Order: sequence, then C-alpha cells, then structure tokens
Amino acid sequence: MSHLMNTYARLPVAFTRGRGAWLTAEDGQEYLDALAGIAVNGLGHAHPRLAAALAEQVGRLIHTSNVYRILEQEELADRICALTGLDEVFFANSGSEANEGALKLVRMYGHKHGNPEAQTIVMEHAWHGRTLATLAATGSEKARKGFDPLPTGFIRVPYNDLAAIERAAAADPRVQAVWLEVLQGEGGIRVADADYLRALRRLCDERGWLLMMDEVQCGIARTGKWFGYEWAGIRPDVITLAKGLGSGVPIGAVVAGGRAKGTFGPGNHGTTFGGGPLACRAGLETLRIIEEENLLGNAAAMGQRIRDGFGAALQGVAGVVAIRGQGLMIGIELDRPCGDLVKQALGNRLLINVTQERVIRLLPPLVINVREADEIVARLAPLVRAFVAMPAQRAA
Ligand code: PLP
Repeated sequence: MSHLMNTYARLPVAFTRGRGAWLTAEDGQEYLDALAGIAVNGLGHAHPRLAAALAEQVGRLIHTSNVYRILEQEELADRICALTGLDEVFFANSGSEANEGALKLVRMYGHKHGNPEAQTIVMEHAWHGRTLATLAATGSEKARKGFDPLPTGFIRVPYNDLAAIERAAAADPRVQAVWLEVLQGEGGIRVADADYLRALRRLCDERGWLLMMDEVQCGIARTGKWFGYEWAGIRPDVITLAKGLGSGVPIGAVVAGGRAKGTFGPGNHGTTFGGGPLACRAGLETLRIIEEENLLGNAAAMGQRIRDGFGAALQGVAGVVAIRGQGLMIGIELDRPCGDLVKQALGNRLLINVTQERVIRLLPPLVINVREADEIVARLAPLVRAFVAMPAQRAA
C-alpha cells in the first residue's frame, strides 16, 4: 500500500473473487455486496454470459483505434439511441470524461449559436466528477477545496427549484444549458420531482437551452427504468452514461439528440481508448442481459422490497429521518453523521456506503434476489437501530 498515492481512506479488506451479489475476501469470508462497485456491477460479479462474451472478445480483438470504424461501437451506439430516442453517441472511458464531453458540447453549441460565453446551470449537491470542469460543476465544497482556479461557466442553484433557475436566467442572459442528475447519488439519494423535470423540459424548449441529464449513476436500469428521466416522461437533449454500462469494464458515453445533435464535427473531440471493441462489447452484452433477464422489473421490485423491509424494521425509530430512493438506488437518512456504520456493516459482512455524512447509500446489483434483498435488511437494520440508540456524540 505504501506506494499508492494517498487518495483513499480504504477499508481493510480485499476481494479475490465474486459471484452474483457475493464477494469472497482473501481470508475466504463471504460478503453480501449492497454497493455493486458504486452502481457499476449491475449484473453482479462474474456473470457467466458477460464473462464468456468478454473472454471471446479478448481472444479476438481488444483495441484498434478511432482512426478506423469499430463495429462494436457502431452497434452499441445504435442500441443506446434505440433505447433513448436520441441520435448520436460519443464514447469515453469514465463518467467524468463523458461529462467533460457534454460540457464541451454546451460550449461548442454556444459558439455556434451566437453565445460564446455559454453558462450551464448546475445544482447544489450535484456530483459530476473529479476533473477540473466536472469538479467546478460539482456541488461539494469539500471536493472542490484546494483546486482553484476552477473553470468558470457554471451557475449553481438549489435542486428541485424551478423559480431559482428562472431567477438565474433573468440575471444572466448567457445561460445555455441546465444540467442535473434526476436522482442525486453522491448528493444523498435525492429524487427530482416529476413535475419539476417536466417544467424544466418546457423551460428549456421555450428558451432554446439544452436540457442535460447526468445518468452516470442512476442510468442503465438502476431505478427500474433504463434511464432515470423516463420516470417523468420526458426526453433530455444530452445524457451522459458510464458506471453500469460496462459492468466494470471502463466506458462512458455522451448521447445527444434534439437541438444538440450535430454540434461536434471531426476534430472537435476525441479519445484514444474510448469506444474500443472490448468496452463496447461489455456494453452490448450488459444491455442484452438486462433486457433478457428482465432486470428492469427486478430492480423495481427488489428496490421496493428493500425499502419496505427497512420501513418495517425501522418504523418509529427515533433518529431515522427518511428512507427514500427509486429502484435499487436507496438512501436511509439518519439525524447524525453515520460513517462508522460502514465499518460496522463490514463486520457483519455487508458492503454499504455513506454519503453526505448522514445518508446510508445502498446500490445492490440489479440481479439481486428476494433472499439477498431480505438479507440486506436483516444485516443492516439492527446496526442502524443500535447506532441511533447511542447518544449522538458517541455515535459520531
Ligand atoms: N456523475 C455522477 C452522477 C456520478 O455519480 C459519478 C461518480 O460517482 C460521476 C459522474 C463520475 O464518474 P467517474 O467516477 O466514472 O469519473
């Protein structure tokens, strides 16, 4: 460990193999994975079909170059456009890189439409990544601290507040885009109101703005629909994808349609690795398996079961502020910082995460079954009860 740059406060466990929702540590102990690599391993670990497809691909072709046509890339773009109703895809390697591409697209769009200082409205508590531009758009002061000067071009407003967007636009005529997560993940599992999203769609149409959704965490079936925005019955102009799309093989995507279509031309954007045969094969196989194993339905049903399970197990427990989320993106908000619960859950051989200091975040694999869903509740609920029963200063 001593030669690793000191950027993570890692937990003292390493896994050597996995199967479905279970991971096996070096010492042979089995852990139930309710985090799925932070919304990456939707198919669980070592899905046999994915493993076979990737092995076949590795044995045939891993990388060529975007200098040439890449058949897997074209096929995956077709599939994503069929699912979204959007028109064109640029493939990158991560959520941050996809988001950088989307931000460059806003600026290029502005330049092409007489707005060379295009501003993007972003949300409080948003999380868009760790590169300089995505960090500038991210709402976390803690993450931004120490990295000034950050790129400009962002106006931050409260989430779920249409009037705040109208006020921001009245104060700055350079607004060109509104960018948000339909369901804020790092921001504490906050869900945007469907009415707000529909009103945003109308506002963007009236003003000629781009409506952009960061679907990096909530996309790819996690909420029980392919994409989180579908819950509001709207279609954005630009979405970004990553995490669950490749089931662990790094991939990101900028997907554009509507007035955003055709913004980039040759030479405007690029990447060496993005959209390579291996990553796109992972994406294709992931989407196929999600469809054929009905993982949309499973995510919705298991998510409901877990929320109901915690609702019953924690009913009336003082200190539990809210249980919320959509599909398999679940948050349990406590009245106090609860980072310690991550270690306690690890002791119970359950993998969870805490975000915004007080929100337990659960992102189990989409393949989770009834027994495993109930087991998450059975392992975690007693810990939460005991935790909030402690005096607040000791719990913290
Ligand atoms: N956008 C959202 C909504 C995310 O949750 C994340 C990561 O947590 C990112 C972007 C950044 O993605 P990556 O870590 O792949 O760069």
